[in-house]
Amino acid sequence: SRTGARGEPLPAALSGVRWVRLCFVDLFGTLRAIHVPAPQVRRVLDHGMVFDGSAIEGRVRLLEADRVLHPDPATAVALPDGSARMLGVVLDAEGEPWPLDPRTALLLWLEAHEELAERWRGGAELEWYLVTADLEPADRGSYFSEQTGLGAQVAHRAAETLEGLGVEVLAAHHEGGPGQWELDLGERDPLGLADALTWAKAVVAETAAAQGLRASFAARPLAGQPGSGLHLHQRLDGLALEGDLAEEARFVIGGLLQHARGLCALAAPSVGSYRRLHSGPEAPGAVVWAHTNRAALVRLGHLADGRPTIEYRGADPTANPYLLLTGLLAAVEDGLANRRFPGKAVEEEPAGLDLAAVEAAPGLLPRSLDAAVDALLEDEVLVDAFDARLVGRLVDGQRAELEAAGANVTRADLLSSLEG
Ligand code: GLU
Ligand code: MG
Ligand code: MG
Repeated sequence: SRTGARGEPLPAALSGVRWVRLCFVDLFGTLRAIHVPAPQVRRVLDHGMVFDGSAIEGRVRLLEADRVLHPDPATAVALPDGSARMLGVVLDAEGEPWPLDPRTALLLWLEAHEELAERWRGGAELEWYLVTADLEPADRGSYFSEQTGLGAQVAHRAAETLEGLGVEVLAAHHEGGPGQWELDLGERDPLGLADALTWAKAVVAETAAAQGLRASFAARPLAGQPGSGLHLHQRLDGLALEGDLAEEARFVIGGLLQHARGLCALAAPSVGSYRRLHSGPEAPGAVVWAHTNRAALVRLGHLADGRPTIEYRGADPTANPYLLLTGLLAAVEDGLANRRFPGKAVEEEPAGLDLAAVEAAPGLLPRSLDAAVDALLEDEVLVDAFDARLVGRLVDGQRAELEAAGANVTRADLLSSLEG
């Protein structure tokens, strides 16, 4: 059952722990927690924890709403500081799943689509920038630099901590920008991958802070430098991805392309996400697929463990992993159910992208969050993957961010307005 902790022995990760952080992720991807002292944990496992569920709405929170967070013992992870973290499902006062909670939303989707839920496996590449207290890049490295500095230490320690939490890390490497690093996470089921991404971001940030540094998961935090992506690598049980591409694999790609524009509101959900998309040869701009072309939205690639995968390159680390995976799976499911052919691959030409082929493609990705939100609202498949209230609150929050960004007067505005 969804709240199967009642009466079960305490999970091993909780033994000797003084505090348990009952975690949830709000609509905008921020990890939040209720801290529970050890003597209370048994009661919480049996009955859940009442909290103000409106916090899940993040910045667009309206009314106080009593909800119950039921931690899932299987998610319990012990942290280096002697506390533990758990994730769970959120129920309303009637004991029904509360579909405005992103993790619960993904669970509900998976329960309603068991066949795909069981076949789908995915891993991820998570990129971020490491900066000093003065907001300077923490190192001067570049793509695959053999760093021995603080950046490498943060990557190594974060990966070791994640291994201790049961999150498999396949590799780490320096990325293209100064201070930019990547961790590659091994494949898991959909909920497991979303949980792994939640822990990975938290652990990287904490490990950086322990070294006096900061991690930025913004889509493109440094002017003139590459953005940070969150590439998702997917495969389906029983589906070969090498040799002549099977029809089913084409439909998976077709679904991702068909819903590409609306998916951006979930995969690239921030105002700053659009400083990454369309920004260069490695961040996608066109709704096309390819084998080698890294500017394509979808690529037949490989996870770091060598598994052939269908790589979706549209997401950045500001994405809420639960909403992203729900949307991604809904797109894949629609591709399979409605036999959506993706058109032909658009490979990179020595002279650059084949523009004629790009023009013949279903189009370009949105160039702003505004356009992505409109595309999401027009995409019935994506909207129907969620409770209507969740989509409403998400879009309200995104529009509030857009307005705040537009109203943000900077020094540059004054300087550019000076005359004479
Ligand atoms: N940093 C690039 C992005 O924004 C991706 C680089 C790579 O291919 O790993 O998606
Ligand atoms: Mg990378
Ligand atoms: Mg990649």
